[in-house]
Amino acid sequence: MKVVLLGAPGSGKGTQAELLCRGTGVAHISTGDLFRDAIHRHTPLGKEAQAYVLAGELVPDRVVIGLVRETLRTLEGQKDFVLEGFPRTLGQAQALSGLLAELGFSLDRAIYLELADSEVVARLGRRRVCSNCGAIASLPPGTSRGRLSCELCGNRMVARKDDRPAAVRRRLQVYHQTVQAVLDYYRESGLLSRVSGAGSPEEVAERVRGALLVATG
Ligand code: AMP
Repeated sequence: MKVVLLGAPGSGKGTQAELLCRGTGVAHISTGDLFRDAIHRHTPLGKEAQAYVLAGELVPDRVVIGLVRETLRTLEGQKDFVLEGFPRTLGQAQALSGLLAELGFSLDRAIYLELADSEVVARLGRRRVCSNCGAIASLPPGTSRGRLSCELCGNRMVARKDDRPAAVRRRLQVYHQTVQAVLDYYRESGLLSRVSGAGSPEEVAERVRGALLVATG
């Protein structure tokens, strides 16, 4: 399985990638997570990406394509992956095809999680991440405050800085400016499946698995 998950910020890409990969040995690659980790560790990549990530802007293609190239190279042999948060621009999608060809891989499917903006904004307002292990959780629907502890490691869960309203508005704007070209690219390659991102993570996961089964026969 070599899959990319596309969709708005907050559409559930990270959660679905986690559900697809859990216990399977399939690599979960999230460019957002790679940037957050680099920022946390103050690496040169983190220093370069930080201002973009906090403002809800895209990190330049040159930087993110280099990062994905390095990450894919570390996959051994035929290793499968779910790539999430990348590609976000047509240039990234074209570069990914080139990178995969260099490695002798080809993409099985691009799955697009569709979700209305109003639901995206509501979900991002409730999203919390573990300050220690990065696990994702949500406050109950209808709430925007409250304490959560991580179910995996017990640490405090916090809101991401770029889930604040101004950054969310900008991220959605950028997303709408760039997504169509990426969808057209994969539709024209015959690789695109559109899946509703509405409902519980398990309900969405069923649809995603269904789309992958149809794709791989
Ligand atoms: P995410 O966790 O996928 O929402 O990504 C968080 C932030 O990381 C984005 O708002 C961008 O600043 C940056 N980022 C992640 N993936 C990409 C990408 N493929 N291209 C450019 N910037 C990215």
